[in-house]
Amino acid sequence: KLASREFHPQSSIVNVDGVKIGDGNIVIMAGPCAVESLEQLLESAKIVKAGGAQFLRGGAYKPRTSPYSFQGLKDEGLKYLAEARSQTGLKVVTEVTEVEAVETVSRYADMLQVGARNMQNFRLLKEVGQAKKPVLLKRGLAATLEEWLNAAEYIMKEGNNDVVLCERGIRTYETYTRNTLDMSAVAAVKHLSHLPIIVDPSHGTGKWRMVRPMAFAATAAGADGLMMEVHPDPSKALSDGQQSLTPENYMEVSSGVHKISCFM
Ligand code: PEP
Ligand code: MN
Repeated sequence: KLASREFHPQSSIVNVDGVKIGDGNIVIMAGPCAVESLEQLLESAKIVKAGGAQFLRGGAYKPRTSPYSFQGLKDEGLKYLAEARSQTGLKVVTEVTEVEAVETVSRYADMLQVGARNMQNFRLLKEVGQAKKPVLLKRGLAATLEEWLNAAEYIMKEGNNDVVLCERGIRTYETYTRNTLDMSAVAAVKHLSHLPIIVDPSHGTGKWRMVRPMAFAATAAGADGLMMEVHPDPSKALSDGQQSLTPENYMEVSSGVHKISCFM
């Protein structure tokens, strides 16, 4: 299989327009859950850049559990992301939720995110496999490692080898946390696959207070990067405020991560 370490013994480095993921340095992708306005996004971008992030994250196409929740700014949000990139030099990673949007999102983003809810949307996987952009493939809500790696296989089979995996927690019987962050997936994936793997402690726990310890643990476990939600004012966030870091918290998490990664 294309994603397996047996097929490709050497760890892969995914180059996203000059930023390398999997080369031994920890890559940080940070930003709001959703793009809410140009002001909110530009402020977030400045904060995450100051904390050493290489990528700005932010959803324009949002996969919301309830149809009554904020659904995202769609193409307007993509334009704001492109504006934030040109003002800061940050790379942009953003989710694409539907086949029809792959072409448009590819025009604005540096990296296409396939979210947990779409991990087994095989038409979408094939479509991003044909796109000329690196893909961030999040683990499904209840996906086994084998199912997750098979999803990567769908993308790679279409000719796109630039796939980065993202552990974001899975559904278990525990309800205290939003998901159960499977830190062991980092070590398991490193053994099974040559693809880089990053960890999202924000969706993985659903609680901002748990982001710092889990970001530190992921760094120590050998993750190639982190994805974290940061909002200028989490209390006003239109989505996922309870798991979003304030600018101050983010700076603290990020400096700790960089210290730990020095020992790795
Ligand atoms: C996200 O990262 O914006 C997101 C919706 O995460 P997930 O797909 O992991 O739930
Ligand atoms: Mn979110």
